[in-house]
Amino acid sequence: MLEKFHIITYGCQMNKCDSEVLSGILADSEYKYTDALEDADIVLLNTCSVRDTAESKVMGMLGRLKYIKEKRPDMIIGVCGCMAQSWGQTLIEKYPYVNIVLGTSRLPELPRLIKQLQELGQPAIDTLETPSDIDMPNPVRESSITAWVTIMHGCNNFCSYCIVPYVRGRERSRSSYSILNEVKSLGILGYKEVTLLGQNVNSYGIDKGDELDFAGLLELMDRESAGIERIRFTTSHPKDVPPNLIDAMASLPKVCEHFHLPAQAGSDKILARMNRGYTRQYYMDLVQKLREKVPGISITTDLIVGFPGETDEDFADTADLVQKVKFDVGFCFRYSPRRNTPAASMEDQVPEEIKMQRLYELLRIQDDISMAKNESIIGTDQTLLVEGFNPRDKSQLTGRTRTNKIVFFTGSAELIGKLVNVTIIGAGNWSLRGEQQESKEMLLGKVDGEI
Ligand code: SAM
Ligand code: SF4
Repeated sequence: MLEKFHIITYGCQMNKCDSEVLSGILADSEYKYTDALEDADIVLLNTCSVRDTAESKVMGMLGRLKYIKEKRPDMIIGVCGCMAQSWGQTLIEKYPYVNIVLGTSRLPELPRLIKQLQELGQPAIDTLETPSDIDMPNPVRESSITAWVTIMHGCNNFCSYCIVPYVRGRERSRSSYSILNEVKSLGILGYKEVTLLGQNVNSYGIDKGDELDFAGLLELMDRESAGIERIRFTTSHPKDVPPNLIDAMASLPKVCEHFHLPAQAGSDKILARMNRGYTRQYYMDLVQKLREKVPGISITTDLIVGFPGETDEDFADTADLVQKVKFDVGFCFRYSPRRNTPAASMEDQVPEEIKMQRLYELLRIQDDISMAKNESIIGTDQTLLVEGFNPRDKSQLTGRTRTNKIVFFTGSAELIGKLVNVTIIGAGNWSLRGEQQESKEMLLGKVDGEI
């Protein structure tokens, strides 16, 4: 009798969101979640293929699971997500103790695969590209305050370095009706924040033709999501940021002032080779427009160093873009060749040690900028949505500003899930320290006490 499951998630928010969907599917089939991997009857690895390091971590975990399974031969090991999609049958050949391989578009098929495995005693594989169900309802969410809501699947952009379009298929937008229903029920359940997810949310609705565009969806959400205080979204492609989206961000009260806008590179030659569809100047103009229209907006980015053909001058252009734009946060990656992508077979691949040097240099530049940006808001008042305890120091709470900055402060557990005003009193490059401002109720209490 199978009872308990455990899921290990690798990669981006999209995967975390998919793991919540997988938990929901298993909970609907009467399985219970366990924190203890060794006790689980079903262990799922929800995998990422975006970089080689992500795949290596999964392989390391599969090595560990082999030993656990020797003691627990009935344990079912399933590999889901991007690696399952791209490796398929090869996973079973390489790791014969893997029992289930489940592709990115087929999550609802999990109970059927478990049944098939039990009946036939053979590994069960489903990596079909036809989506089982675009809505994938009933996730079991980790948080009861903030929720991820997938609004579209797949990507049509085919950046030359990226495996995502090959493992997650073409863009498929959910209907606005079904997204709105999900967000409305989250509001009723007491959630305070939603993050709308997709590989390129700005192209929401284009595949459906007659649907709302992304700005329209934000307007609808802002208006009809009683109880929800904050709306975020990720990720946006810089080539698809129309004026109405900037206006929506500027005018809609629930839409937070944070834009994750991956630049990837600062050299026009490299941007063209990456097939990004914009130039450095276009990107800088877009940032300027956003900053003019949305005062106080934070802009974060992704950057890749060591893309094939990147010379010292090209890298200097990226470093210069970072210095000029002054991102709040920059996620910097070494280019990692991915199977079957055009960039993997480009000549003039950059040696690993040069990629490493460039990565360190870019991280150093960005760290100084993030630190200076965070220091510049010391002394300001910020409203936080309190998400829980600081995982490293349970005597403190953690919350986020509207601009998505993490703030730790001392306060009581009753504040979790509430909007709280703090004054920023300290800064690091990844987080801030705050001090709670006295609320009207507390001030009234003091006056009463004095009387
Ligand atoms: N769709 C999003 C976008 O366009 O920005 C995110 C896609 S990807 C999951 C997240 C980031 O991983 C990308 O923005 C890019 O910087 C990085 N990435 C993707 N493929 C990569 C590769 N082959 N090597 C290194 N970094 C990569
Ligand atoms: Fe990958 Fe580019 Fe699509 Fe983002 S937009 S998922 S980087 S192909």
